[in-house]
Amino acid sequence: RKLGYAIVGLGYYGLKVIIPKFADCEHSRLAAVVSGDPIKARRVAAEHGLDPKSVYSYADFDRIRDNPDVDIVYVCLPNSMHAEYTIRAAKAGKHVLCEKPMAISVAECEAMIAACRRANRQLMIGYRSHFEPHNLEAMRLARTGAAGKIRYVRSEHGFVQGDPQAWRLKKALSGGGSLMDMGIYSLQAARYMTGEEPIAVTARESTDRRDPRFTEVEDIIDWTLEFPSGAIASCQSMYSANQNHILLMGDKGRIELEPATRYDGNQMWTGRDGREQQVQPPSANRSQFVGQLDHMAECATTNREPIVSGAEGLRDIRIVEAIYRSAREGKTVRL
Ligand code: NAD
Repeated sequence: RKLGYAIVGLGYYGLKVIIPKFADCEHSRLAAVVSGDPIKARRVAAEHGLDPKSVYSYADFDRIRDNPDVDIVYVCLPNSMHAEYTIRAAKAGKHVLCEKPMAISVAECEAMIAACRRANRQLMIGYRSHFEPHNLEAMRLARTGAAGKIRYVRSEHGFVQGDPQAWRLKKALSGGGSLMDMGIYSLQAARYMTGEEPIAVTARESTDRRDPRFTEVEDIIDWTLEFPSGAIASCQSMYSANQNHILLMGDKGRIELEPATRYDGNQMWTGRDGREQQVQPPSANRSQFVGQLDHMAECATTNREPIVSGAEGLRDIRIVEAIYRSAREGKTVRL
């Protein structure tokens, strides 16, 4: 049978991006919605043929424990709410798929992992790049030595944040600025392209605090990761320009993606001996969203740890905390 998902938060990502993807899933279906807006929630439920009993508010979310139709809770809320809803979902006996960033502190990530472990439920983070054909092919090529010994990775992610009132710019809801939102992609890329865990980070921040968007959170953050092999990653995120790029350089060639981690339209090149060529990955049209939803459903069915588990989200938030500390203190932080 297809596993039932409850989508928590009918905002842009939950409603516009995720819900339509169930139509193409093999193992996943929409089973419930959780929202603070009862009119919107009832409308979405009706559009998708859900029983009105499968509509929840944040206040009565815990009743979801009594709904056997819901196997997995997908948390699509502002970052500071990820921990609370993941833990409540686990206590209700549900598996959890939680959006990135996993949470806004290491302590929260640890509490989420502990809650899911205690409930014997799986926890996955919405790292869709691990299901995106170009990124998967780039990882495969990097691992099989297509670029030779990996020496350097660069990754930049950003978009122009317009509305000064957006929750992404309110520290209590976002946990931080561009690093929490887009920098996570650059950090992930540095880790999955090298296949290594960083041992040190050096970061610096540049934010115009007179700009009404940036009274609480950072605009640009730029950081260097050092890896045990000697490889270096130079990463960046920003809220004042659009960018979406991953570059890997080895001693025999390069792998480049631009755009690298968009919802669609990603492109990839490899270069060796001075010759650049565009790469069409196998199954280039396979949906990263469907891949992600069905992977979680299969992991829930077989009680197997997802390839991007809570432990993977926690690794990133540990590094995020080190990046902020390095930028604040103006020195290299060992990991
Ligand atoms: P959004 O603002 O469009 O939606 C947020 C939802 O949370 C809304 O339905 C809003 O009503 C609800 N909400 C509940 N309490 C709230 C509060 N106190 N303040 C603000 N909103 C509140 O945001 P979004 O873009 O859908 O992002 C939601 C999550 O999804 C974030 O964690 C974000 O990082 C993640 N996201 C991931 C991707 C991806 O590609 N993986 C893309 C976009 C967003």
